[in-house]
Formats: sequence, structure tokens, C-alpha cells
Amino acid sequence: EEGITVDELAQKINHTPAEVIKVLFMLGTMVTINTALNDEQVELICLEYGYEPKKIATVDETNFEDLIEPDKEEDLVPRPPVVTIMGHVDHGKTTLLDYIRKSHVAEGESGGITQHIGAYQVDVNGKKVTFLDTPGHEAFTAMRARGAQVTDIVIIVVAADDGVMPQTREAIDHAKAAGVPIIVAVNKIDKPGASPDRIRTEMSEFGLMPEEWGGDVVYQDISAKKGTGVQDLLEAITVVAEMAELKANPNRAAYGTVVEARLDKGRGPVATLLVENGTLHPGDPIVVGTTYGRVRQMTGDNGRTLKKATPATPVAITGLNEVPEAGDKFMVFDSDKTARHIGEARAEKKKEEERNTTSAMSLDDLYNQI
Ligand code: GDP
Ligand code: MG
Repeated sequence: EEGITVDELAQKINHTPAEVIKVLFMLGTMVTINTALNDEQVELICLEYGYEPKKIATVDETNFEDLIEPDKEEDLVPRPPVVTIMGHVDHGKTTLLDYIRKSHVAEGESGGITQHIGAYQVDVNGKKVTFLDTPGHEAFTAMRARGAQVTDIVIIVVAADDGVMPQTREAIDHAKAAGVPIIVAVNKIDKPGASPDRIRTEMSEFGLMPEEWGGDVVYQDISAKKGTGVQDLLEAITVVAEMAELKANPNRAAYGTVVEARLDKGRGPVATLLVENGTLHPGDPIVVGTTYGRVRQMTGDNGRTLKKATPATPVAITGLNEVPEAGDKFMVFDSDKTARHIGEARAEKKKEEERNTTSAMSLDDLYNQI
């Protein structure tokens, strides 16, 4: 990584390059006026001259984190939680997601079936909850591997006629690693062999002590098939969300994460975005992963056209040059020109990184052949 040069740093702190060179020399480093300094060296100079290093740290314009201005506390308002459902295969994740969607998502304009865009939002007594529609661990792990943590709460579904299984334990591990609250949904309580208490005992062995036993984990018995207890589960989610004090600033340019993306024959690249902060509008110049464009059409989970998407709202957009990947970050910019510039710089950087890994791999291959 190329840092700021001695000359540039000297200008910023109103000292001569000679002074900067001297300070570094006293600290044991020989540099010239054109030397690119590393972070540590910049920090040392700043300390020496009483500057806050952060103010002059070089900004990597390909890194969204560097481009995000922090919000002021007074601009933040509560936002809906984003929930992922995990658990062992056949314990009822899909059945639960389908039940919640059918019972809580309003029909689309055509009155037809609701669209699957990878996430949906429901209304629970006037409070919104966003669900990621891809249950399972791979999606979650893949997202986290790309630095995307979109989930605020994990629901672990355990079948009451079965018990804690390998993927149940994986789900617990994932949720703990992500540091997000867990709610346990004890499913299939309608089945003859169901034993919800046994599930509580087994889960307690993994540190998930139920509230009713003096612990701090919310358990809810449900039948995803019949809908029993699902409303209570949704209300429990809003309570846990409130305790988490999730906040965002709707009055700023949007940024967030890609939930899923595909190429549509007629509409071109379609990406479902989850707005993490800010509000997204049609016409916004946007960079998504390494592609860019201008938001053309915005569609909600019920197939309706949206004029805006506030924090934690999932929305499918068109208008991108290429199809991004799930877990990619997106960010809105003030002009098409900036979006293109940043998008192209990010694409270039990714190519560079890929070239580096490819050459490293071929070197490995070479050694393997010797
Ligand atoms: P997933 O693999 O976790 O997504 O599990 P599914 O949702 O596909 O459910 C697996 C099977 O369990 C299906 O045959 C469902 O109909 C059934 N199932 C799910 N929830 C319930 C329930 O609450 N009660 C009963 N009796 N069956 C259920
Ligand atoms: Mg499933």
C-alpha cells in the first residue's frame, strides 16, 4: 500500500520536508522527500507535531469504510432488525420463513404470488422486522467471509421431536462468532413425540440457558406448519431488537450489502440490496462491489415499485452494468462521474488482487511439482 509521501505530509502539517526527514532520522529511519511513509511513520510525525493522525491519514477511495462519514448521535433513529433463520436440515427453517411471509407480507400489485428477492420485511404490531430469505449456514458464512455482517438476530430452529444436531451446533457457533443475540424456536410441537423441555436442556449445555430457567435466552415453542406460536416468536424478535438499540440515519446517502443478484433476461442485472444506513432512491448514482450504475427501478418484496428504501429495507434494483455478488457492499455517490470513477478503481483493485493470488497459486503449484 502506497502511503502519503514526506513532501505531502510536510505540507499538510505546515512544516518543511527537511524537518520531517530529520524527525524520522532521529527515530532511526532514513527517508527522502519522495518516500511513501507507512502508517506508523505518519503517526510518529503527527505525534511529534501534535496533530491527530486520523485527520491526515490517507483515504483509500476504493475502500467504502474510508469514505463513510460517521453519523452524529442526534441524527440516529431506531431501525428494524435483520433476522437470519438457522438450524439443522429438516428442522423447519423453510416452513417457518414461508409461514411468516404468507401471513405477513401483503400481496403484490398484480394480486399474484409475492416475489422472492432474497429478503422480506414484515409488520409486527406496527414494528418492522426484516428476514433474510436464504436460511442456512453457507449464505451466512459466505457473507461474513466477505466482511458483510448484516444479521442482527439469529433464530435457531430446533425440531422438538429430534434434538440438537450437528448443524444446530454450527448455527450456535456462527451466531456466537458474529456476537448477535440468539432466539431459539422450538419447532414441530404439534408432533406426537415432541419434547420442548428436552430441547431446552440440550441447548442449555451449549450455554443457551432459557429465560424461564433463569438464563438470558428467549425460547419460543412453535409449529411452523400450523402457525402456532409464530406471532409470539415475532413479538419476541421485536423485544430482543429493542434491547439491541439498533439505529441508523435515514437522512444520508445509502450504503449497505447485496443479498442476492442475478441476470434477468429483460431487465439486465438485478440485485437485492439491504440498506444498512441512509435512504436509497431511484436515480441514485451507485457503486455495488466492483460494478456501478444508476438505480433505475426499485422493487420491494411484494413486487411493488418503491420510491425510497430506508435502513433495513430489502429492495431489488436494476441499472447496474454487471451482476454483483452476494455479500458485496454498495454505496451511493453524489454524481455519476464519481460512481464510475470509484467503481472502476474498485474493479481495477480487484483484478490486481486476483492477479496476485493467481501468481501465488501458480508458485505453489510449481513447488508442488518439484
Ligand atoms: P428445513 O430443511 O429446515 O428448511 O426444513 P423444512 O422447512 O423443509 O421442513 C422439513 C419437513 O418438516 C417438511 O416436511 C415440513 O413440512 C416439516 N415441518 C416443518 N415444520 C413443521 C411443524 O411445525 N410441524 C410438523 N408436523 N412438520 C413440520
Ligand atoms: Mg429448507
